Amino acid sequence: MSIPQTFIQELLARADVVEIVGRYVQLKKGGANFMGLCPFHGEKSPSFSVSPSKQFYHCFGCGKNGDAISFLMEHAGMTFVEAVQDLAQQYGLQVPEDDASPQDRARALEQRQKQTTLTDVLERASDAYRKQLKESPRAVDYLKGRGVSGEIAKQFGLGYAPEGWRSLASVFPSYDDPLLVESGLVILNVDETSGEEKRYDRFRDRVMFPIRNVKGECIGFGGRVLGDDKPKYLNSPETPVFSKGRELYGLFEARNALHEQGYALVTEGYMDVVALAQLGFSNAVATLGTACTAEHLHKLFRFTDAVVFSFDGDSAGRRAARKALDGALPFATDVRSVKFLFLPPEHDPDSFIREFGKEAFARYVSEAVPLSRFLIDAAREGCDLNTAEGRAHFASNAKPLWL
Ligand SMILES: [Zn+2]
Repeated sequence: MSIPQTFIQELLARADVVEIVGRYVQLKKGGANFMGLCPFHGEKSPSFSVSPSKQFYHCFGCGKNGDAISFLMEHAGMTFVEAVQDLAQQYGLQVPEDDASPQDRARALEQRQKQTTLTDVLERASDAYRKQLKESPRAVDYLKGRGVSGEIAKQFGLGYAPEGWRSLASVFPSYDDPLLVESGLVILNVDETSGEEKRYDRFRDRVMFPIRNVKGECIGFGGRVLGDDKPKYLNSPETPVFSKGRELYGLFEARNALHEQGYALVTEGYMDVVALAQLGFSNAVATLGTACTAEHLHKLFRFTDAVVFSFDGDSAGRRAARKALDGALPFATDVRSVKFLFLPPEHDPDSFIREFGKEAFARYVSEAVPLSRFLIDAAREGCDLNTAEGRAHFASNAKPLWL
């Protein structure tokens, strides 16, 4: 999709960079400009300046600068088109699309409106789950037992879905609203013979983890049981706003820490992300019950140049690492770093830090296996390099990985 340059000019003239940056960074007026802590590098005293007259931001510490669009791209991780659409929506402008037919345009508009409606529905459910957490001592005890403070629970918007089959009926004016099914909150079963429709809440008696997109909007949920019920983890289904092959849990919450810490730690679950944030590693994200795809990585590399995958040291962890390796290969360049961290078999990041401490974990991360070495290890697996057959096997294993 190409957007006419004249529209970009008009949009930038209409948008206020102070307002846009102010959505993400706390700004204070200082003379003609506004100052704040730079979101692109870690600092204690503000050297990040935003000029309302020039409609520009500039950091005297790290040199980052740009306009409202580049800020949304660099800081909120949006693509150019997403940033333009975000601004246009905010300032009530319609993005003209050069190469789109009127039908395509109408369809795109309808799709965006639908997405907005779905995120509204999900936000509303998220608010309700959050309130219900406060009323459930069992759920609060569960989180406390995992070492999660009220502050971290608030930061991640954690909630609780109560036990009943139709708890959401008290949250929405109409439980039969098709949007509840479309957003994945409600399951609709149609009896094959009678044609009778049955609706019930997808998430019941679970601690709820809202999944947010890079704009901070709720696009789905992960729910974890409090006890030993199965399935232990339940995610929202694929919807027009949520695709687990694309979204990373915790990315929105981690975006500042990614700049400060200089790398992203990719873990295996949302509880890992929350536990790590609690222990001072706010730069963790997690895939949602899938292997890490190239699309996940593409998104991550908009925020950071270094990614460390953390895997449990068991065989399932090894297999997951192999899949992540395949996804990561296209991104391995001189400027980007991809590493693999294998925890001891009985540990996840949370238990590791609790047993050995933060410094030990940070050291462990710094000694993670670089992609190039993991690549060779993966190819060598099961090959006896002392024999000609073993070496041939190794070469044939390695071939698809080099290409
Ligand atoms: Zn800076």
